[in-house]
Amino acid sequence: MALLKSDNTHYQFNKRTLKYERVEHTWKYHFKRAISVLSLGLIFGAAFFLLFIFTIQSPNEKTLAAENERIGTQYELLSHQLDDAIEILDIIQERDDNFYRVMLEADSIPTALRTGNYDATVRYRQWDDMRTESIVKESSMKMDILNRMLYVQSNSFDELISLAKQSEDKLLHVPAIQPVLNKDLKRTASGYGIRIDPIYKTLRFHEGMDFAAPTGTEIYATGNGTVVSVGWKQGYGNCIVIDHGYGYSTVYAHISKFQKSIRKGIKVVRGDVIAYVGSTGKSTGPHLHYEVRFKGKAQNPQNYYFLDLSPTEYDEMVRISANNAKMFD
Ligand SMILES: [Zn+2]
Repeated sequence: MALLKSDNTHYQFNKRTLKYERVEHTWKYHFKRAISVLSLGLIFGAAFFLLFIFTIQSPNEKTLAAENERIGTQYELLSHQLDDAIEILDIIQERDDNFYRVMLEADSIPTALRTGNYDATVRYRQWDDMRTESIVKESSMKMDILNRMLYVQSNSFDELISLAKQSEDKLLHVPAIQPVLNKDLKRTASGYGIRIDPIYKTLRFHEGMDFAAPTGTEIYATGNGTVVSVGWKQGYGNCIVIDHGYGYSTVYAHISKFQKSIRKGIKVVRGDVIAYVGSTGKSTGPHLHYEVRFKGKAQNPQNYYFLDLSPTEYDEMVRISANNAKMFD
């Protein structure tokens, strides 16, 4: 059936009458027709729309996708670089804890304090909905750890610098040489420890070290410090006591003669001649009785010649002073 359309009026060709006849449609017919045309349009439209959004990207989307890809790659790269940085810092930390801090007598810093404790489940939850979630989370955590490590490390170095400055001064003050010239160690007589008393012939603790030397041999201050006592002391004879600070003091006994400038309160420098060997007080022959005290308590002086003696010479001195039971007191 062919229809001709003109405005809202439809005509139909009648084969029998060979005439066009006007066709009257009901409103229902028009309504149905309109609906069918509309739905067809909707179906096609929706189909094209879906096809478009699932298969064809807009130029903007393409750019975004490419950018996203690059960000992902960049994140991975950054994550590796963070690993490298953390590894370098690990080495520095290890040296810090096991060398610098040991040398300067500082406690090591616990690992937990160095790296902090970042709870990955809570702190980085904001990235949970991202497709690149794990790499973003991981990198953020590494960055936090790195920041923390750097902060703790720089604090540690500040502390070490101040300790090193102190230790430099301390090194000048603590007793660190032999009190008489004793290159071949021949003057080493009796060491620290239990010895037979040369006069009473009983066992007694020898609180110092004896150096046998001719009367008049120079006696040196063994570290920088202040003379706190010059004069006669029971048993010690003519005696000098030097306070070196940092808890250390040294005692020089049986002196024959004091150096002229040595008075109570005077400052001395390591190596200054302070007196001359003698045999005053309770002594059986010319020698220097030398004591090192830390916080008032006698120490073994042979541990305080580290600027003088090599490890081999040290061993030799230990051997001589242990073997030689004869003390001059
Ligand atoms: Zn002695």
